[in-house]
Amino acid sequence: MPSPKTSPDALTGLFPSEIAERIQGPPLRGRQLFQWLHKKQVFDIHAMTDMPLADRTRIAENHAPAALTPGVLQSSPETGAQKTLYELADGETIESVLLSQGHRITLCLSSQAGCALGCTFCATGQAGFRRNLSAAEITEQALRLTGSLGEDRTNTPNIVYMGMGEPFQNYEAVLKSIRLLMHPEGLNIGARKITVSTAGDVAGILRFAEEPWQVRLSVSLHAGDDDLRSRLVPLNRRYPLKELHHALLQYQEKRNRQITIEWVLIKDINDSTAQARALSGFMHGLDATVNLIPWNAVPGLDYRPSPLKQRESFIAVLKQAGIKATLRKERGDDIDAACGQLRNIRHGASEPKG
Ligand code: SAH
Ligand code: SF4
Repeated sequence: MPSPKTSPDALTGLFPSEIAERIQGPPLRGRQLFQWLHKKQVFDIHAMTDMPLADRTRIAENHAPAALTPGVLQSSPETGAQKTLYELADGETIESVLLSQGHRITLCLSSQAGCALGCTFCATGQAGFRRNLSAAEITEQALRLTGSLGEDRTNTPNIVYMGMGEPFQNYEAVLKSIRLLMHPEGLNIGARKITVSTAGDVAGILRFAEEPWQVRLSVSLHAGDDDLRSRLVPLNRRYPLKELHHALLQYQEKRNRQITIEWVLIKDINDSTAQARALSGFMHGLDATVNLIPWNAVPGLDYRPSPLKQRESFIAVLKQAGIKATLRKERGDDIDAACGQLRNIRHGASEPKG
């Protein structure tokens, strides 16, 4: 039997009705296939035993069920996080992270192979852009990670779009993947358990505000003035802070949902009390919490993680201004840090001291 070939256009990126159309079969066949792929995480059509053998053979011969080939799996004993490298049909590679914290499971998905935005502290940004991922390539990361849990799967996982890439620069495919992951005949993940993280793509934020659902939004801010932010997050030159702030106000008017502001603390770059005050200013009028993340070292980059004392002074300023903020004292104990950190495992970097 030929081994199933992979394709960016695989069946894992289609709704039941689209699958039926693609395989030129009845609606029931589309639903059966969808359930095997999404609910049971079985990607081998020959193993889909409730379908007639002749159908299975015909579908397997003509259609690629899957988009990803799982590669190296690496674990971080420090965090309990697992990173899987996936190969795409054209040889590109992406990575996804599974983080278990007690019963809480979080899956960190990539939306692009690489990233075009070039944030100066980010491993993906430094490596450059390869291409957008298809809906199948995004969705299937979550399917395969869930499948790898086996019997350990107790609760529905949380999904965060915080792996490689800028989700709003691949809007359509990301949105379709969210809808597929929320599908009641598949993983059936609740909108509130899904978070999309953006570097501040204003056009994307405004578009996202129009989506009639409760999917969460997270914004990676990292700097409270345009000079510094344009240096760290070059996208700020296109969408400066004032515009970003305005877009977030509009988002909240429409969606009425609390957002998260992400801030990676880098020593002597954005960890001063002056930056904390600037951040307090940005928070004005927003219903948001701040998530302070220790910077994870990237080989070849000349930054350092912010020392604990500085991190504590930073959060003290926020608290004084009445802003809700969380500070990770230990590196790598949340998914944001885990996403970045696992990139290090790939490159074999050692842990620097704050
Ligand atoms: N492009 C989107 C989502 C992917 S990046 C965004 O920028 O939001 C996900 C998160 O990881 C972002 O908050 C980003 O700032 C953070 N990040 C990137 N590199 C990191 C590093 N070396 N250490 C810690 N966090 C990092
Ligand atoms: Fe891209 Fe996000 Fe990395 Fe910036 S932080 S380069 S937007 S992945």
